[in-house]
Amino acid sequence: MHTSDAWRRLQDIGIEEGMVAIGYESSPGVSTGAEYKNNCRIHQFAKYHLWTASAALVTCPSAMTDGAAVLLGQHLDAEPGVRGARGSEAQAQEVFREARRRLISRDPREAWTSGQWMTERKGGSDVSGTETVARQLPRQDVVGEDAVGMPLGPWRIDGFKWFSSATDADMAVLLARTEKGGLSAFYAPMKRKRSDLAEGAGNREGGTEFNGVRIQRLKNKMGTKGLPTAELELSGMRGYLIGKEGEGVKEISALLNITRLHTAVSQVGYWGRGLAVSRAYAKVRKVAGGKLLADVKQHVAWMADETVRYHAAMHLTYFAVALLGASEQGSGVVQSTRARELIPKSAEEQDLLLRVLTPVMKAQTALASIHGLRACMESLGGLGYLENNDDPVLNIARLYRDANVGAIWEGTTSVLADDLIRVLKGRLATQAVRLLDDWVTTSVAAGSAKLQEEREIIAKTWLSLRRKVQETDVEQLQWRGREILKELELIVCGCIMIFNASLDEDEVQIELARRWARKARPAMSSSANWRKDAAMDKRIFLGNESNMAAKL
Ligand SMILES: Cc1cc2nc3c(=O)[nH]c(=O)nc-3n(C[C@H](O)[C@H](O)[C@H](O)COP(=O)(O)OP(=O)(O)OC[C@H]3O[C@@H](n4cnc5c(N)ncnc54)[C@H](O)[C@@H]3O)c2cc1C
Repeated sequence: MHTSDAWRRLQDIGIEEGMVAIGYESSPGVSTGAEYKNNCRIHQFAKYHLWTASAALVTCPSAMTDGAAVLLGQHLDAEPGVRGARGSEAQAQEVFREARRRLISRDPREAWTSGQWMTERKGGSDVSGTETVARQLPRQDVVGEDAVGMPLGPWRIDGFKWFSSATDADMAVLLARTEKGGLSAFYAPMKRKRSDLAEGAGNREGGTEFNGVRIQRLKNKMGTKGLPTAELELSGMRGYLIGKEGEGVKEISALLNITRLHTAVSQVGYWGRGLAVSRAYAKVRKVAGGKLLADVKQHVAWMADETVRYHAAMHLTYFAVALLGASEQGSGVVQSTRARELIPKSAEEQDLLLRVLTPVMKAQTALASIHGLRACMESLGGLGYLENNDDPVLNIARLYRDANVGAIWEGTTSVLADDLIRVLKGRLATQAVRLLDDWVTTSVAAGSAKLQEEREIIAKTWLSLRRKVQETDVEQLQWRGREILKELELIVCGCIMIFNASLDEDEVQIELARRWARKARPAMSSSANWRKDAAMDKRIFLGNESNMAAKL
């Protein structure tokens, strides 16, 4: 597999800059007194946010690398009952430990990236049709080493993976069917040592070969052109079982939760870049007989509305990031932030809230950013439609093409709606609804009196959604799945925006919360004084950085 120098260099920059590693590096924070740790996840994703629009999708392998590191990290301790299945359990753990060390390394000479292979011809959303099979080898056949000298696993994997986006990765986490039935998750390195070739003896790969993988062809895609997405044939790939046989879907969901968060951050990262270009353009482009676009009220009103939506998506995404940090590192990492009142205290509740919000965040942020980037393109007129390859920073058309995949990979919108209904009506339904109830009540109660009407709107919208969820059967709720996603997005973003604005009652932040909440009541969306609204449009779209910054 040969990729361009530029792609590999970008990948190395991402590794050196810690786009994955930062999430695992806990560092002491600067505190006003009490000792606390920084929330590594906030640090990681804030940097990733700035990087993603310029990174030609090396962020896609980073996402899967991060997910694989979380998943392998859950399997470093002995688990009863899986000794036989993994061959030597101690050996598997050693391999996982070393792989994870490389996945979170900042040194490009030893760092690894990971792929995630779920999708097959028969389905990506529904993996129950998976045809790839894994069988355990007799002990005498368990020989050989991977490219870095670790023993190859005791399972042989054969099949076909229809989409692999990190074809140049060093390892993969994949699903395969075993004789026992059901799907299991496997770890497999991409390369292994060739016993018939001496290291460097005229062999381009330095004495290694693919670990039973053949690239059938690269995909020809609408966007994400920099990313080598391929169809892979697996024949005799060697790997290790992750977790227990038959629990592959459960295992891989740990990885998916992380990649969904990465998707959302990338989507708002692209969108933020698009809006920055739109703002800059509005300040220089003259229209309507010499007027700057920034002075055209209709244009600014439209872009102000886009900015309100962007703020909502940012709040939702970074709230989920903060929750992930708290869940992984302990509540201490949010204690020094003003968001602490919004983060549940117990790890169980943090995990449950993250479980509910992840599908909402991924689905809604992807859709909103795609619509948002389309608007940013239009805001530049014909220039927005051009690829502008000579200045990639300004290329909104590319960002728009790339953003479109956000609504497809890591779960389509409908699949995520189903996922949300599964939590709201499944085994955890009572706890999930109670948790949301408490969370909405607390956030709304903390709101400023200046947002009294908006607090009522959000509280009533939640009561109505709660009733709908409790009184409607699963099948009907699934039918209305996309509506449920939207309503919960409106409520959760409304709560966070009201809470944020109320911290210092900044005029612009109050208006952002007001405009968002009133999306639930379109008839109330403008005040009696349109000129005042138009002046506020300008502050929202073009306003100075200090009043636009979130306070959390
Ligand atoms: C650029 C790119 C890179 C990718 N990289 C990878 C990768 O690295 N690894 C990997 O495993 N996959 C990868 N994928 C595959 C991607 O994850 C799948 O395409 C996605 O999960 C959808 O699966 P599908 O294509 O089989 O579509 P389908 O599942 O057939 O979906 C078709 C339609 O049916 C709808 N649908 C499906 N199930 C339901 C349901 N239960 N309720 C309602 N509607 C439903 C979907 O929303 C969609 O609109 C990649 C895809 C793209 C485009």
